[in-house]
Amino acid sequence: VNSSQINEEAKKIHIVDEDVKHISKVLRLNVGDLIEICDGDGFEYIGEIQEINKDQVIAIYIDKKEVRSEAPIKVTLYQGVPKSTKMDLIIQKTTEMGIVEIIPVFTHRTVVQLDNKKDKEKKTDRWQKIAAEAAKQSKRGIIPLVHLPLTFKEALSHCETNCLNIIAYEREHQQGLKKLLQGMDSTINSIGIWIGPEGGFTEEEVEAAINQQVNSVTLGPRILRTETAGFALLSMVMYELGD
Ligand code: SAM
Repeated sequence: VNSSQINEEAKKIHIVDEDVKHISKVLRLNVGDLIEICDGDGFEYIGEIQEINKDQVIAIYIDKKEVRSEAPIKVTLYQGVPKSTKMDLIIQKTTEMGIVEIIPVFTHRTVVQLDNKKDKEKKTDRWQKIAAEAAKQSKRGIIPLVHLPLTFKEALSHCETNCLNIIAYEREHQQGLKKLLQGMDSTINSIGIWIGPEGGFTEEEVEAAINQQVNSVTLGPRILRTETAGFALLSMVMYELGD
């Protein structure tokens, strides 16, 4: 749920839309049953169901606590938009692993076309739903934010300060991830990981990224599929810096 559905004074939680179906048809809960509810903002509530019908579930919460499933470092995925439904898998798996933001990027070698704003919004809505579902099942404290797709250039200017940006480049043979993370400045509080689409990044894109202080790294001597690379890189980052 989101915080507008929680009345802290009355300790009442108002659940609507798809969650109602999930609670009644999938979980088969009833009045009097206990339910765990997350506000997507880092808090979890234990509620007792007071009312349940096809349109809404009302629960009174009896406990509220901070969710401890978020990593101490914020990781954003810049993913070159791949073909077919691979992005769905990427969003689902990186959400399970603790990604905080996902930015779909149209690179030079992206094949998929989303020409108008409406198509982009429709796809983004679908991806956001996938992130919400995956966050729910992983008991995340937050729901990762899926942005509207950006061009490579727009994505580069989106990079935050105090963020270590890492571009995975299969033609990089020098710099490994471990040393880069271990030598990381103590002011860094977030990481951006950049993965190319099926055809990879162009040399010009990697050069432009490096000029913006993005670090290019190898993920080893084997070429990973685009849907594997982000997940692999995120696992390595979480192993070093997550908890
Ligand atoms: N052709 C395959 C596919 O269809 O998925 C492989 C695509 S690979 C070029 C896609 C992206 O994964 C690259 O742009 C890079 O970001 C990342 N990647 C894959 N293997 C890598 C490696 N060994 N080192 C660094 N990056 C890698």
